[in-house]
Amino acid sequence: MAYFGTNGVRGRFNELTPELAQRLAQQIGIYLKKSGAKGKSGKIILARDCRLTGEVLSSSVAAGLASVGCDVVDLGVASSPTAEFMIKKLGACGCVMITASHNPPEWNAIKVVDSNGVAVSRERGGEIEKTGIKLAPWDGIGKITRYELAGREHMDVIKSLVDVEGIRKRRPKIVLDCGNGTASVIAPGLFKELGCEIISLNAHLDGRFPGRPSEPSEANVKELLIAVRTMKADAGIAWDADGDRVIFVDEKGGYVIGDRVFALSVLWRLVSCKGDVVTTVATSKAVEDVAAKNGCKVRYTAIGAPALCEEMARKPAAIGGEEVGGVIWPQLSMAKDGLMTGAMLAQALCEKPLSAWLKDIPLYYNVKLKIEADAKGRKEIMSRVLAFAKKSKLDYITLDGVRVNMKDAWVIVRPSGTEDYVRVFAEARSEGDAKKLASEYEKVARG
Ligand code: MG
Repeated sequence: MAYFGTNGVRGRFNELTPELAQRLAQQIGIYLKKSGAKGKSGKIILARDCRLTGEVLSSSVAAGLASVGCDVVDLGVASSPTAEFMIKKLGACGCVMITASHNPPEWNAIKVVDSNGVAVSRERGGEIEKTGIKLAPWDGIGKITRYELAGREHMDVIKSLVDVEGIRKRRPKIVLDCGNGTASVIAPGLFKELGCEIISLNAHLDGRFPGRPSEPSEANVKELLIAVRTMKADAGIAWDADGDRVIFVDEKGGYVIGDRVFALSVLWRLVSCKGDVVTTVATSKAVEDVAAKNGCKVRYTAIGAPALCEEMARKPAAIGGEEVGGVIWPQLSMAKDGLMTGAMLAQALCEKPLSAWLKDIPLYYNVKLKIEADAKGRKEIMSRVLAFAKKSKLDYITLDGVRVNMKDAWVIVRPSGTEDYVRVFAEARSEGDAKKLASEYEKVARG
Protein backbone atom coordinates (compact mmCIF):
# COMPACT_ATOMS: atom_id res chain seq x y z
CA MET A 1 0.00 0.00 0.00
CA ALA A 2 1.12 3.54 -0.70
CA TYR A 3 1.58 5.79 2.31
CA PHE A 4 2.56 9.10 0.71
CA GLY A 5 -0.32 11.39 -0.19
CA THR A 6 -0.25 14.77 -1.92
CA ASN A 7 2.01 16.17 0.79
CA GLY A 8 3.53 13.55 3.10
CA VAL A 9 2.22 10.61 5.10
CA ARG A 10 -0.80 11.40 7.24
CA GLY A 11 -2.71 9.33 9.74
CA ARG A 12 -4.05 8.85 13.25
CA PHE A 13 -1.71 7.28 15.80
CA ASN A 14 -2.97 3.73 15.12
CA GLU A 15 -2.18 4.23 11.41
CA LEU A 16 0.94 6.38 11.49
CA THR A 17 2.58 4.26 14.19
CA PRO A 18 6.07 4.67 15.66
CA GLU A 19 7.13 1.49 13.79
CA LEU A 20 5.92 2.84 10.45
CA ALA A 21 7.50 6.24 11.16
CA GLN A 22 10.85 4.59 11.82
CA ARG A 23 10.79 2.46 8.68
CA LEU A 24 9.71 5.39 6.48
CA ALA A 25 12.43 7.54 8.08
CA GLN A 26 15.07 4.96 7.07
CA GLN A 27 13.83 5.13 3.46
CA ILE A 28 13.58 8.93 3.60
CA GLY A 29 17.13 9.18 4.96
CA ILE A 30 18.60 7.05 2.17
CA TYR A 31 16.54 8.90 -0.46
CA LEU A 32 17.50 12.39 0.75
CA LYS A 33 21.19 11.53 1.08
CA LYS A 34 21.18 10.14 -2.45
CA SER A 35 19.25 13.03 -4.01
CA GLY A 36 20.89 15.82 -2.00
CA ALA A 37 23.11 18.23 -3.91
CA LYS A 38 26.78 17.25 -4.14
CA GLY A 39 28.95 18.54 -1.35
CA LYS A 40 26.05 18.63 1.09
CA SER A 41 26.46 16.82 4.38
CA GLY A 42 24.30 13.89 5.36
CA LYS A 43 22.58 16.27 7.76
CA ILE A 44 18.79 16.18 8.02
CA ILE A 45 16.69 18.74 9.90
CA LEU A 46 13.99 17.29 12.13
CA ALA A 47 11.16 19.32 13.67
CA ARG A 48 7.68 18.75 15.04
CA ASP A 49 4.58 20.68 15.98
CA CYS A 50 3.18 20.37 19.50
CA ARG A 51 0.73 17.48 18.95
CA LEU A 52 0.70 14.90 21.76
CA THR A 53 1.97 12.16 19.41
CA GLY A 54 4.75 14.39 18.07
CA GLU A 55 7.53 13.50 20.48
CA VAL A 56 7.12 9.74 20.10
CA LEU A 57 6.92 9.92 16.30
CA SER A 58 9.83 12.33 16.18
CA SER A 59 11.97 9.97 18.30
CA SER A 60 11.16 7.12 15.90
CA VAL A 61 12.04 9.28 12.90
CA ALA A 62 15.32 10.37 14.53
CA ALA A 63 16.23 6.72 15.20
CA GLY A 64 15.30 5.74 11.64
CA LEU A 65 17.35 8.52 10.05
CA ALA A 66 20.41 7.94 12.24
CA SER A 67 20.28 4.17 11.70
CA VAL A 68 20.94 4.66 7.98
CA GLY A 69 23.82 7.06 8.61
CA CYS A 70 22.13 10.50 8.55
CA ASP A 71 23.12 13.12 11.10
CA VAL A 72 19.93 14.43 12.66
CA VAL A 73 19.68 18.08 13.70
CA ASP A 74 16.61 18.09 15.94
CA LEU A 75 14.96 21.49 16.33
CA GLY A 76 12.33 20.14 18.71
CA VAL A 77 9.01 21.99 18.54
CA ALA A 78 9.30 24.51 15.70
CA SER A 79 7.05 26.00 13.05
CA SER A 80 7.27 24.48 9.58
CA PRO A 81 8.68 27.68 8.02
CA THR A 82 11.36 27.81 10.75
CA ALA A 83 12.38 24.22 10.02
CA GLU A 84 12.40 24.70 6.25
CA PHE A 85 14.38 27.92 6.53
CA MET A 86 17.14 25.96 8.32
CA ILE A 87 17.75 23.61 5.36
CA LYS A 88 19.86 26.13 3.47
CA LYS A 89 21.19 27.78 6.59
CA LEU A 90 22.71 24.51 7.86
CA GLY A 91 23.50 23.05 4.42
CA ALA A 92 21.24 20.08 5.13
CA CYS A 93 20.18 17.54 2.53
CA GLY A 94 16.56 17.83 3.61
CA CYS A 95 14.06 18.24 6.37
CA VAL A 96 11.49 15.97 8.00
CA MET A 97 8.60 17.58 9.84
CA ILE A 98 6.14 15.84 12.10
CA THR A 99 3.01 17.93 11.67
CA ALA A 100 -0.55 17.50 10.49
CA SER A 101 -0.82 21.25 9.81
CA HIS A 102 -4.43 22.42 10.31
CA ASN A 103 -5.91 18.96 10.98
CA PRO A 104 -7.52 18.00 14.30
CA PRO A 105 -5.18 17.07 17.18
CA GLU A 106 -5.54 13.28 16.88
CA TRP A 107 -3.97 13.41 13.42
CA ASN A 108 -0.29 13.63 12.64
CA ALA A 109 1.86 13.46 9.52
CA ILE A 110 5.41 13.15 8.24
CA LYS A 111 6.35 15.79 5.68
CA VAL A 112 9.55 15.69 3.70
CA VAL A 113 11.35 18.58 2.05
CA ASP A 114 14.48 18.11 -0.10
CA SER A 115 17.79 20.00 -0.10
CA ASN A 116 16.36 22.65 -2.47
CA GLY A 117 13.46 23.33 -0.12
CA VAL A 118 10.99 21.53 -2.40
CA ALA A 119 8.24 19.52 -0.67
CA VAL A 120 8.17 15.87 -1.72
CA SER A 121 5.17 15.04 -3.92
CA ARG A 122 3.11 11.86 -4.04
CA GLU A 123 5.24 10.65 -6.98
CA ARG A 124 8.55 11.19 -5.18
CA GLY A 125 6.96 9.68 -2.07
CA GLY A 126 6.35 6.58 -4.17
CA GLU A 127 10.08 6.46 -4.98
CA ILE A 128 10.91 6.77 -1.29
CA GLU A 129 8.65 3.83 -0.47
CA LYS A 130 10.49 1.69 -3.04
CA THR A 131 13.89 2.53 -1.53
CA GLY A 132 15.61 -0.53 -0.05
CA ILE A 133 16.75 -0.16 3.57
CA LYS A 134 20.40 -0.74 4.36
CA LEU A 135 21.47 -0.10 7.93
CA ALA A 136 24.68 1.82 8.51
CA PRO A 137 27.56 -0.16 10.05
CA TRP A 138 27.71 0.11 13.85
CA ASP A 139 30.37 2.83 13.69
CA GLY A 140 28.70 4.68 10.83
CA ILE A 141 25.45 5.51 12.60
CA GLY A 142 24.46 9.19 12.43
CA LYS A 143 24.59 11.60 15.35
CA ILE A 144 21.41 13.07 16.83
CA THR A 145 21.94 16.59 18.13
CA ARG A 146 19.58 19.23 19.47
CA TYR A 147 19.66 22.68 17.91
CA GLU A 148 18.06 25.43 19.95
CA LEU A 149 18.77 28.52 17.83
CA ALA A 150 16.47 27.96 14.86
CA GLY A 151 13.63 30.19 16.10
CA ARG A 152 16.07 32.99 16.90
CA GLU A 153 17.73 32.74 13.48
CA HIS A 154 14.39 32.66 11.67
CA MET A 155 13.25 35.78 13.55
CA ASP A 156 16.49 37.60 12.72
CA VAL A 157 16.21 36.97 9.00
CA ILE A 158 12.57 38.13 8.92
CA LYS A 159 13.60 41.29 10.80
CA SER A 160 16.30 41.92 8.19
CA LEU A 161 13.70 41.79 5.39
CA VAL A 162 11.20 44.36 6.71
CA ASP A 163 11.46 47.99 7.76
CA VAL A 164 11.79 47.56 11.52
CA GLU A 165 12.61 51.24 11.97
CA GLY A 166 9.34 52.25 10.29
CA ILE A 167 7.28 49.72 12.25
CA ARG A 168 8.79 50.93 15.54
CA LYS A 169 7.78 54.49 14.71
CA ARG A 170 4.20 53.63 13.81
CA ARG A 171 3.84 50.91 16.49
CA PRO A 172 0.77 49.11 15.05
CA LYS A 173 -1.41 47.28 17.56
CA ILE A 174 -1.88 43.67 16.42
CA VAL A 175 -3.80 40.79 18.00
CA LEU A 176 -1.99 37.49 17.42
CA ASP A 177 -3.99 34.25 17.52
CA CYS A 178 -1.43 31.45 17.58
CA GLY A 179 -4.10 28.75 17.96
CA ASN A 180 -1.91 26.95 20.54
CA GLY A 181 0.28 25.87 17.62
CA THR A 182 3.94 26.43 16.80
CA ALA A 183 3.44 30.11 15.92
CA SER A 184 3.39 30.43 19.74
CA VAL A 185 7.13 29.70 19.78
CA ILE A 186 8.15 32.81 17.88
CA ALA A 187 5.24 35.05 16.86
CA PRO A 188 4.85 36.99 20.15
CA GLY A 189 8.61 37.59 20.39
CA LEU A 190 8.95 38.46 16.71
CA PHE A 191 6.16 41.04 16.65
CA LYS A 192 7.37 42.58 19.90
CA GLU A 193 10.89 42.93 18.47
CA LEU A 194 9.45 44.38 15.27
CA GLY A 195 8.06 47.16 17.42
CA CYS A 196 4.37 46.26 17.38
CA GLU A 197 2.08 46.54 20.36
CA ILE A 198 0.79 43.00 20.71
CA ILE A 199 -2.06 41.15 22.35
CA SER A 200 -1.69 37.37 22.20
CA LEU A 201 -4.49 34.80 22.10
CA ASN A 202 -3.95 31.04 22.47
CA ALA A 203 -0.22 31.69 22.55
CA HIS A 204 0.93 28.73 24.62
CA LEU A 205 1.80 25.39 23.03
CA ASP A 206 -0.88 22.77 23.64
CA GLY A 207 -1.22 19.73 21.39
CA ARG A 208 -4.92 19.41 22.22
CA PHE A 209 -5.59 22.84 20.65
CA PRO A 210 -7.91 23.93 23.48
CA GLY A 211 -8.26 27.55 22.28
CA ARG A 212 -9.75 26.86 18.87
CA PRO A 213 -9.53 24.27 16.07
CA SER A 214 -6.25 24.82 14.23
CA GLU A 215 -7.76 25.63 10.81
CA PRO A 216 -8.00 29.45 10.88
CA SER A 217 -11.44 29.57 9.21
CA GLU A 218 -13.80 32.46 9.92
CA ALA A 219 -15.94 30.29 12.22
CA ASN A 220 -12.87 29.18 14.20
CA VAL A 221 -11.40 32.64 14.85
CA LYS A 222 -14.54 34.40 16.16
CA GLU A 223 -12.72 35.33 19.36
CA LEU A 224 -10.01 37.09 17.34
CA LEU A 225 -12.55 39.06 15.28
CA ILE A 226 -14.13 40.35 18.50
CA ALA A 227 -10.76 41.05 20.15
CA VAL A 228 -9.54 43.21 17.24
CA ARG A 229 -12.72 45.28 17.33
CA THR A 230 -13.09 45.68 21.08
CA MET A 231 -9.40 46.34 21.72
CA LYS A 232 -9.31 48.84 18.84
CA ALA A 233 -6.37 47.07 17.26
CA ASP A 234 -5.03 47.81 13.78
CA ALA A 235 -5.22 44.18 12.70
CA GLY A 236 -5.39 40.54 13.74
CA ILE A 237 -3.39 37.56 12.51
CA ALA A 238 -4.24 33.87 12.97
CA TRP A 239 -2.00 30.92 12.05
CA ASP A 240 -2.70 27.25 11.52
CA ALA A 241 -0.97 24.73 13.83
CA ASP A 242 2.37 24.62 11.99
CA GLY A 243 2.56 28.35 11.23
CA ASP A 244 2.78 28.24 7.45
CA ARG A 245 -0.68 29.60 6.67
CA VAL A 246 -2.27 32.82 7.92
CA ILE A 247 -5.44 34.83 7.71
CA PHE A 248 -5.78 38.51 8.61
CA VAL A 249 -8.46 40.52 10.38
CA ASP A 250 -8.87 44.17 9.45
CA GLU A 251 -9.27 47.00 11.99
CA LYS A 252 -13.07 46.74 11.73
CA GLY A 253 -13.03 43.08 12.76
CA GLY A 254 -13.52 41.88 9.17
CA TYR A 255 -12.15 38.44 8.27
CA VAL A 256 -9.70 38.45 5.34
CA ILE A 257 -9.69 35.07 3.55
CA GLY A 258 -6.50 33.34 2.44
CA ASP A 259 -6.98 34.27 -1.21
CA ARG A 260 -6.97 37.97 -0.33
CA VAL A 261 -4.05 37.56 2.09
CA PHE A 262 -2.10 36.15 -0.85
CA ALA A 263 -3.24 38.93 -3.21
CA LEU A 264 -2.11 41.53 -0.64
CA SER A 265 1.24 39.78 -0.26
CA VAL A 266 1.71 39.87 -4.04
CA LEU A 267 0.94 43.59 -4.01
CA TRP A 268 3.48 44.24 -1.25
CA ARG A 269 6.17 42.07 -2.82
CA LEU A 270 5.92 43.42 -6.37
CA VAL A 271 6.50 46.98 -5.15
CA SER A 272 10.14 46.14 -4.41
CA CYS A 273 10.73 43.11 -6.59
CA LYS A 274 9.27 42.60 -10.05
CA GLY A 275 8.98 39.03 -11.24
CA ASP A 276 6.56 36.19 -11.92
CA VAL A 277 3.89 35.14 -9.45
CA VAL A 278 3.48 31.38 -9.08
CA THR A 279 0.18 30.00 -7.84
CA THR A 280 -2.22 27.08 -8.22
CA VAL A 281 -5.13 26.86 -10.63
CA ALA A 282 -7.52 27.23 -7.67
CA THR A 283 -6.42 30.78 -6.83
CA SER A 284 -8.57 33.90 -7.16
CA LYS A 285 -8.26 36.08 -10.26
CA ALA A 286 -7.56 38.95 -7.86
CA VAL A 287 -3.95 37.69 -7.80
CA GLU A 288 -3.69 37.84 -11.61
CA ASP A 289 -5.21 41.35 -11.55
CA VAL A 290 -2.68 42.60 -8.98
CA ALA A 291 0.20 41.04 -10.93
CA ALA A 292 -0.98 42.55 -14.23
CA LYS A 293 -1.33 45.99 -12.66
CA ASN A 294 2.34 45.73 -11.68
CA GLY A 295 3.40 44.53 -15.12
CA CYS A 296 4.00 40.96 -13.94
CA LYS A 297 2.55 37.63 -15.00
CA VAL A 298 1.17 34.59 -13.19
CA ARG A 299 2.48 31.06 -13.75
CA TYR A 300 -0.09 28.44 -12.74
CA THR A 301 0.59 25.03 -11.23
CA ALA A 302 -1.41 22.00 -10.09
CA ILE A 303 -2.91 22.26 -6.60
CA GLY A 304 -0.72 21.47 -3.55
CA ALA A 305 2.53 22.66 -2.00
CA PRO A 306 4.84 20.23 -3.89
CA ALA A 307 3.69 21.42 -7.35
CA LEU A 308 4.03 25.01 -6.24
CA CYS A 309 7.60 24.77 -4.96
CA GLU A 310 8.68 22.52 -7.85
CA GLU A 311 7.65 25.30 -10.25
CA MET A 312 9.40 27.97 -8.18
CA ALA A 313 12.57 25.89 -8.10
CA ARG A 314 12.37 25.30 -11.87
CA LYS A 315 12.29 29.01 -12.76
CA PRO A 316 12.73 32.02 -10.47
CA ALA A 317 9.67 33.92 -9.27
CA ALA A 318 9.10 36.99 -7.09
CA ILE A 319 6.53 35.26 -4.90
CA GLY A 320 4.38 32.12 -4.77
CA GLY A 321 1.32 31.06 -2.89
CA GLU A 322 -1.83 29.06 -2.44
CA GLU A 323 -5.43 30.11 -2.17
CA VAL A 324 -5.59 29.14 1.50
CA GLY A 325 -3.25 31.83 2.80
CA GLY A 326 0.10 30.10 2.33
CA VAL A 327 2.65 32.50 0.85
CA ILE A 328 6.18 31.59 -0.30
CA TRP A 329 8.75 34.40 0.03
CA PRO A 330 11.70 33.10 -2.02
CA GLN A 331 14.12 35.66 -0.56
CA LEU A 332 13.70 33.66 2.68
CA SER A 333 13.04 30.04 1.70
CA MET A 334 10.76 27.86 -0.41
CA ALA A 335 8.42 27.31 2.56
CA LYS A 336 5.04 28.90 2.96
CA ASP A 337 6.02 31.31 5.70
CA GLY A 338 3.15 32.62 7.81
CA LEU A 339 5.51 34.52 10.11
CA MET A 340 7.01 36.46 7.20
CA THR A 341 3.51 37.11 5.81
CA GLY A 342 2.50 38.54 9.19
CA ALA A 343 5.63 40.71 9.36
CA MET A 344 4.83 42.12 5.91
CA LEU A 345 1.38 43.08 7.23
CA ALA A 346 2.99 44.92 10.17
CA GLN A 347 5.12 46.86 7.69
CA ALA A 348 2.15 47.64 5.40
CA LEU A 349 0.14 49.01 8.34
CA CYS A 350 2.68 51.82 8.64
CA GLU A 351 1.44 53.15 5.31
CA LYS A 352 -2.34 52.80 5.65
CA PRO A 353 -5.01 50.74 7.45
CA LEU A 354 -5.66 47.16 6.32
CA SER A 355 -9.18 48.01 5.11
CA ALA A 356 -7.63 50.66 2.84
CA TRP A 357 -5.13 48.13 1.45
CA LEU A 358 -8.02 45.76 0.75
CA LYS A 359 -9.59 48.37 -1.52
CA ASP A 360 -6.64 47.80 -3.87
CA ILE A 361 -7.61 44.14 -4.24
CA PRO A 362 -10.46 43.48 -6.70
CA LEU A 363 -13.37 41.75 -5.01
CA TYR A 364 -14.59 38.44 -6.43
CA TYR A 365 -17.36 36.11 -5.34
CA ASN A 366 -17.19 32.38 -5.64
CA VAL A 367 -19.56 29.46 -5.79
CA LYS A 368 -18.57 25.84 -5.24
CA LEU A 369 -20.62 22.79 -6.11
CA LYS A 370 -20.08 19.05 -6.33
CA ILE A 371 -21.28 16.49 -8.86
CA GLU A 372 -21.36 12.88 -7.68
CA ALA A 373 -19.53 10.56 -10.04
CA ASP A 374 -17.60 7.29 -9.80
CA ALA A 375 -14.15 6.89 -11.40
CA LYS A 376 -15.62 6.19 -14.86
CA GLY A 377 -18.10 9.07 -14.50
CA ARG A 378 -15.33 11.46 -13.48
CA LYS A 379 -13.34 10.58 -16.59
CA GLU A 380 -16.38 11.12 -18.82
CA ILE A 381 -17.15 14.47 -17.20
CA MET A 382 -13.59 15.69 -17.66
CA SER A 383 -13.45 14.74 -21.32
CA ARG A 384 -16.82 16.47 -21.93
CA VAL A 385 -15.58 19.67 -20.27
CA LEU A 386 -12.29 19.56 -22.17
CA ALA A 387 -14.06 18.97 -25.49
CA PHE A 388 -16.37 21.91 -24.74
CA ALA A 389 -13.42 24.21 -23.96
CA LYS A 390 -11.62 23.16 -27.14
CA LYS A 391 -14.68 23.44 -29.37
CA SER A 392 -15.61 26.86 -27.98
CA LYS A 393 -11.97 28.03 -28.38
CA LEU A 394 -11.82 29.12 -24.73
CA ASP A 395 -8.73 30.22 -22.82
CA TYR A 396 -8.16 27.14 -20.63
CA ILE A 397 -5.49 25.41 -18.51
CA THR A 398 -5.37 21.63 -17.96
CA LEU A 399 -2.71 21.38 -15.24
CA ASP A 400 -5.20 20.05 -12.68
CA GLY A 401 -8.74 19.54 -13.96
CA VAL A 402 -9.83 22.15 -16.51
CA ARG A 403 -9.69 25.84 -15.60
CA VAL A 404 -11.35 28.25 -18.04
CA ASN A 405 -10.33 31.92 -17.83
CA MET A 406 -12.63 34.72 -18.88
CA LYS A 407 -12.20 38.47 -18.66
CA ASP A 408 -13.62 39.00 -15.18
CA ALA A 409 -14.27 35.43 -14.16
CA TRP A 410 -12.99 31.87 -14.23
CA VAL A 411 -14.24 28.41 -13.51
CA ILE A 412 -12.47 25.15 -12.70
CA VAL A 413 -13.89 21.64 -13.06
CA ARG A 414 -11.72 19.21 -11.19
CA PRO A 415 -12.14 15.53 -10.28
CA SER A 416 -11.48 14.48 -6.69
CA GLY A 417 -8.48 12.14 -6.47
CA THR A 418 -9.92 9.99 -3.73
CA GLU A 419 -13.67 10.59 -3.50
CA ASP A 420 -16.60 10.02 -5.82
CA TYR A 421 -17.25 13.51 -7.09
CA VAL A 422 -16.16 16.29 -9.40
CA ARG A 423 -15.91 19.83 -8.08
CA VAL A 424 -17.04 22.90 -9.94
CA PHE A 425 -15.64 26.17 -8.61
CA ALA A 426 -16.60 29.47 -10.23
CA GLU A 427 -15.46 33.00 -9.45
CA ALA A 428 -16.90 36.26 -10.83
CA ARG A 429 -17.32 39.92 -9.94
CA SER A 430 -20.85 39.36 -8.56
CA GLU A 431 -22.46 36.49 -6.72
CA GLY A 432 -25.13 36.19 -9.43
CA ASP A 433 -22.52 35.85 -12.18
CA ALA A 434 -20.58 33.26 -10.17
CA LYS A 435 -23.76 31.21 -9.65
CA LYS A 436 -24.63 31.43 -13.34
CA LEU A 437 -21.14 30.36 -14.36
CA ALA A 438 -21.11 27.41 -11.94
CA SER A 439 -24.48 26.12 -13.15
CA GLU A 440 -23.49 26.60 -16.79
CA TYR A 441 -20.45 24.37 -16.27
CA GLU A 442 -22.45 21.92 -14.19
CA LYS A 443 -24.64 21.47 -17.28
CA VAL A 444 -21.58 21.04 -19.52
CA ALA A 445 -20.18 18.50 -17.07
CA ARG A 446 -23.40 16.48 -16.84
CA GLY A 447 -23.68 16.49 -20.65
MG1 MG B 1 -0.02 24.34 7.69
